[in-house]
Amino acid sequence: MKLRFAGTGDSAQVPCFGCDCLACQRARLLSCHRRGPCAGELELDGELILIDAGRMDLAARCERQRPAAILLTHYHADHVQGLLHLRWGRGESIPVYGPKDAQGCADLHKNPGILDFRPGLKPFRPLTLGGLTVTPLPLNHSKLTLGYAIEDRVTRLAWLCDTVGLPGATERFLSEWQPHGVVIDATHPDSSAAPRNHNNLTMALETIERLGPSRAWLTHISHELDAHWLAMPPTLPDGVAVAVDGSDILF
Ligand SMILES: [Zn+2]
Ligand SMILES: [Zn+2]
Ligand SMILES: [Zn+2]
Repeated sequence: MKLRFAGTGDSAQVPCFGCDCLACQRARLLSCHRRGPCAGELELDGELILIDAGRMDLAARCERQRPAAILLTHYHADHVQGLLHLRWGRGESIPVYGPKDAQGCADLHKNPGILDFRPGLKPFRPLTLGGLTVTPLPLNHSKLTLGYAIEDRVTRLAWLCDTVGLPGATERFLSEWQPHGVVIDATHPDSSAAPRNHNNLTMALETIERLGPSRAWLTHISHELDAHWLAMPPTLPDGVAVAVDGSDILF
């Protein structure tokens, strides 16, 4: 299985419009420091499965390789806005799996175009997608949100975004499942205010430590966290890395 970090930013992205912090200035000068909407691409046996669909060039990406399926974590705009364009494409329909959120986003459910929405994934009930077994996991967020436990023949990868902490049942599932890799929401720098919808850095690292994967990646990163790291470079535990847009991980 190959994982590509298609985007690693939060909803404001990096650079954030109108912001002159050092992280945003750097991202304007050096495209390698930009962060698009948080999304992943999984490839296995020549098939492409997308995790989330917030990137604005989604249709162009899908033209290069038509995805076998799209997995949605939730219907916030930064995770689905690319579908608003992609849906008016041509050809065979594309299955889109996600949580049972009747509201969805904008008029996507009313006018799905080529998208074959299959809402109503049940927590902890596995789904087979090509050579992958995908188990939906409830997360803690301001909208109904699912993480995914993704397994091929050799690797177990947990995608945990967007979330603040983890619900007890999800944490228990993951502790037993023992992921090799964890991709986790680390939106905010640490501050005195308790975050309500996204992890701060300490919460993300504490969750990783409890789950004990051999490798983990921080994602959904805000320009505030990048600016914090510019002032004070991160010292992360062994096996933990900051995800970068466009980077590939081979399992
Ligand atoms: Zn988000
Ligand atoms: Zn900024
Ligand atoms: Zn969200």
